[in-house]
Amino acid sequence: MNNVVAPVPHGVTDPMVSHPVLIRRIIWENDDTFTLTLDMGDWAGPFRFKPGQFNMVYVFGVGEAAISISSDPHKTNLLDHTIHRVGTVTTALAQKKRGDVIGLRGPYGSSWPIDAATGKDVCIVSGGIGLAPLRPVVYSLARQRDLYKRIIVLYGGRSPLDLLYRVELEKWANENGIETLVTVDRGDTSWKGHIGVVTGLFNYIKLDARETVVFVCGPEIMMRYTVDELGRRGVPPDQVFLSMERNMKCAVGFCGHCQFGPTFICKEGPVYPLPKIRPLMERKEL
Ligand SMILES: Cc1cc2nc3c(=O)[nH]c(=O)nc-3n(C[C@H](O)[C@H](O)[C@H](O)COP(=O)(O)OP(=O)(O)OC[C@H]3O[C@@H](n4cnc5c(N)ncnc54)[C@H](O)[C@@H]3O)c2cc1C
Repeated sequence: MNNVVAPVPHGVTDPMVSHPVLIRRIIWENDDTFTLTLDMGDWAGPFRFKPGQFNMVYVFGVGEAAISISSDPHKTNLLDHTIHRVGTVTTALAQKKRGDVIGLRGPYGSSWPIDAATGKDVCIVSGGIGLAPLRPVVYSLARQRDLYKRIIVLYGGRSPLDLLYRVELEKWANENGIETLVTVDRGDTSWKGHIGVVTGLFNYIKLDARETVVFVCGPEIMMRYTVDELGRRGVPPDQVFLSMERNMKCAVGFCGHCQFGPTFICKEGPVYPLPKIRPLMERKEL
């Protein structure tokens, strides 16, 4: 099956050129979200990415979408992308089968500054599919567990069945010494965990505000409430980082589709320090 993946032509450096990659596995996380594991073939060697970066995923003849890489940065032979089916490209991706070939270019964008968390507590706050770009952070932190003090994952979903990576969430808590707290908007008869918004989970952990670096990704409304809560708890703004999303086309700073105030999310983002974007977050419809 490996032979299906075309070798990357040597010397191809054009950031607009898509490489063919093979779909090795498809896992449906919930009714409308799935994780594609892509076989990088010959591209696995030169390909490097940092947690928080994204690729442009191309369905031939349909179009491209920006999708965060959701797998372990140390394993580039197989790359995960967790995708929410919302429109043209993501619906076409949802119809793909194991063994199909799609196009990929990247990686693009800024990354979560994991080094800034060395010797400190790390708190990851995520909602819905926002856990996808943070999953590579968890893998990286767990790999060098001794470099950090507490590692806390706060995660919120709409319902128990909507939660991503359910098996892994338990593993993180049980095997990796990661404080993992999960909440849902609506429980079901089997749900024994927290109910309510993700910011409610701050009531169950005691943050050492000055010693904690926080990474946040989720719906914008959730990120705004999280930023307010962190402010109330005394976390310095320069220790808070957020990943932003806007409609994206070229991913290399030419087209301007992903403009966010004076910045382009594809170049300066998607991960920003809070002080850089706080004024922008307060302006509606930007
Ligand atoms: C840096 C970055 C990382 C991303 N990572 C992921 C990821 O890991 N998984 C994932 O599922 N999605 C991710 N997205 C979002 C994804 O790129 C969009 O949802 C994309 O437009 C889907 O393409 P489509 O053709 O299926 O939908 P379209 O047909 O383009 O759009 C469907 C609907 O969504 C709206 N829309 C499109 N893009 C966005 C956006 N970025 N924000 C809000 N509304 C939008 C459109 O206006 C339209 O109403 C990311 C976006 C960015 C910028």
